Amino acid sequence: MITLKKALTLSSEELKEIKKDINNKAKENKKLGGYIEQFLDTDLAESGEGVPVAIKDNINVKGWEITCSSKILRGYVSPYNATVIEKMLNSGLSPFGRCNMDEFAMGSSTETSQYGKTLNPYNSNCVPGGSSGGSAAVVGAGLAIAALGSDTGGSIRQPAAFCGVVGMKPTYGRVSRYGLTAFSSSLDQIGPITQNVEDAAILYNILAGFDKNDSTSAPVENKKIEFYTNKKFKIAVIDNYIDEADEDIKKAILDVIKELEKEGHTIIHKNLMNSKMDVATYYIVATAEASSNLSRFDGMRYGNRIEGKDLKETYKLTRTQFGEEVKRRIMLGTFVLSSGYYDAYYIKAMKVRHLIKNEFDKLFSEADLVLTPVTPTTAFEFGSKKDPLEMYLSDIYTIGVNLAGVPAISLPVGKDGKNLPIGMQLIAKHFDEETLFNGAKIVENIVKEEK
Ligand code: GLN
Repeated sequence: MITLKKALTLSSEELKEIKKDINNKAKENKKLGGYIEQFLDTDLAESGEGVPVAIKDNINVKGWEITCSSKILRGYVSPYNATVIEKMLNSGLSPFGRCNMDEFAMGSSTETSQYGKTLNPYNSNCVPGGSSGGSAAVVGAGLAIAALGSDTGGSIRQPAAFCGVVGMKPTYGRVSRYGLTAFSSSLDQIGPITQNVEDAAILYNILAGFDKNDSTSAPVENKKIEFYTNKKFKIAVIDNYIDEADEDIKKAILDVIKELEKEGHTIIHKNLMNSKMDVATYYIVATAEASSNLSRFDGMRYGNRIEGKDLKETYKLTRTQFGEEVKRRIMLGTFVLSSGYYDAYYIKAMKVRHLIKNEFDKLFSEADLVLTPVTPTTAFEFGSKKDPLEMYLSDIYTIGVNLAGVPAISLPVGKDGKNLPIGMQLIAKHFDEETLFNGAKIVENIVKEEK
């Protein structure tokens, strides 16, 4: 598939041909299940002229049916464009194809979608990751030039790692959330999923910037990312995370670190607090916010209402359409916010969140970048994580980043013994996306040379 950089130089006639080609390929490769339209046997949803970019099913595109892959939103047609979509349309890009995801972005495997599974492009017995599994799979399979995902606890970076592509989560507040269906408002960010680091920077440049429609958008200067040559970085390597990861992942990452050192970057060795703390904190904060955000889906305003004999029964029947994982989180979130438990769980989690942010601040007082694995394992098989808690552990290295609000990128650094992609994560300090992309480009070049 051609790169985003190249596609931006093409004429509208040439782009039409590319869209035709994507449509044909998507239909031929229907079983991948990355695009939702495939299940419907129609052409991919299209909006506007320009370079086609695939869109996760939780970002509003005017005139499209946006469902967050949930039964409860079937039939909801969006009346407006998210800010990121407007920005894309103004920059010569156009939304093209809705991508499968875990229901309401809750999950790490895209197995909770109402539309069925998305396959990993490298091995059809394995998951593509989640929750932006569709977005990562279509880019990984060569069925999209680039895609948008959303990341609350790793949902861009983890599927990018599993599908061998680049995925980036901006600093909290950097990209407008206006028009992104909220899961956990203090953690969610939209970001690019692309074939390489430069394309990620190009798409990020288009998406980023203050938006008056989003009260959590940051009114900070938004300089376009530039790549500079020859800068040497100080990189903090998180030893306890690397030690815990699978052998193949550990080896691929240690190889990159060795090369970085050879090229003259300074490596310092650090540890972060036990990642179990991050998981516990995240699943209190995220479920608390989700229980509140998802209360708006009651059959009165959006999507698919199921009429009962009275109002209460209508609410009940309508909300019964939520899948198991979503219900579990609404209940958990309601519990941690309930008056008897608020102090014990929610307030405690907010305190630990603060500690997590402090840990990152401390690291960035000494280093330009932090380096970790993206996941403890490569892509796992469908159905292999039956216990929800086990599924939650696939995000142990990504969710701290969301809790702290810092930017991070996942990029491919090799394959394991089963030919599944391995991802590496770089993290930068708040609003320092430029260092993040530059560090990622250096790593990408190292990996290219090793091949
Ligand atoms: N896998 C995590 C969860 O299930 C993260 C999801 C996300 O980033 N949207 O909540």
